[in-house]
Amino acid sequence: MSDVMVFAENNGEKVHPVSYELLGKGRELADKLEGELSAALLAGEKLPTEELIYRGADKVYYGIDSSLNEPVETNYKEALLDVISRVNPEVILIGATNFGRSLAPRVAMALDTSLTADCTGLDIDEDKNFIQIRPAFSGNILAHIKSRTSPQLATVRYREFPEARRDEGKKGEVIEMDLSLDGDSSGGIEILKEEHGKKVNLEDAEVVVAGGRGLKKEDDFELIEGLASTLEGKVGASRPLVDDGWIDRAHQVGYSGRRVKPRIYFACGISGQSQHLAGMKDSDIIIAINNDPSAPIFEYANYGIVGDLYEVVPELIRQLEEDH
Ligand code: FAD
Repeated sequence: MSDVMVFAENNGEKVHPVSYELLGKGRELADKLEGELSAALLAGEKLPTEELIYRGADKVYYGIDSSLNEPVETNYKEALLDVISRVNPEVILIGATNFGRSLAPRVAMALDTSLTADCTGLDIDEDKNFIQIRPAFSGNILAHIKSRTSPQLATVRYREFPEARRDEGKKGEVIEMDLSLDGDSSGGIEILKEEHGKKVNLEDAEVVVAGGRGLKKEDDFELIEGLASTLEGKVGASRPLVDDGWIDRAHQVGYSGRRVKPRIYFACGISGQSQHLAGMKDSDIIIAINNDPSAPIFEYANYGIVGDLYEVVPELIRQLEEDH
């Protein structure tokens, strides 16, 4: 019998929704392994635990320590290792958020075990092996990975799986952990605070307006920002603009950037290469603006505007503002 544990990431006030997505998938895996599903809820302040049970956890390991008030990975690593050593789960799932991406490798290193990052699928095969599925070779193949080490850690992108169904009748156990942490912040707090200031949260946006290499110069990004602000949306970008330093990497949409699923995604001057599509093709409505009618993005767009973005975008802003 093997157990599954989900790291319930939180910001001190509420649990990140990726944790509910992981609980949904975790429940499926635990049932196939005929094991238990637990959640590790580690925080600086008291947080409600019952929601994690309603979302499928059989047990919630709950640890509070003032050193967890700030998102310092070294402290969270210590706390999570403490829980893992007491519970001994076979499978550990962590959200591939900024914080999870930084925490998971530290935990894997400390446990001297493997980590499969950014999984897009997880399963258990008929021999009860944990199968971690993720794109490889620029997204051209889906690798099915089995680890030889134990426990097995995987990170999963936010919005990859649906949230676990909520069942208020579900019963579970809350185990309070007495964490005795050193509380070492190693000077990391200032850097993290700065990073959080820049947080973009593209994944939660209802509207994303993204610019690509169709933009001729950095200042022209104002056009994209203008349309995003008219629609109260967030700004995205293709990778070349990020690589050129026109915009922070937190705005990059795609295979090596963020995966978004807004109600409306505007692709302005973006050709629609597979690595960009990997991050936005599941958007409800895709509107592409491109002056090349044969651009691949039009195959995925619900609405296509063939034209020069320098004319189309200002006209869209003008008409939208007129309608308001
Ligand atoms: P281009 O492909 O150059 O397209 C520009 C488009 O703008 C063209 O279609 C052109 O017709 C149009 N255009 C030009 N002028 C105008 C105008 N005036 N008005 C309207 N349209 C105009 N890319 C990402 O975006 N995200 C990723 O996460 C990512 N990860 C990658 C990971 C790996 C391992 C690799 C190898 C690549 C990755 N890439 C990623 C890069 C990707 O392969 C493409 O190079 C990139 O997406 C192209 O960006 P683009 O569409 O902005 O530029």
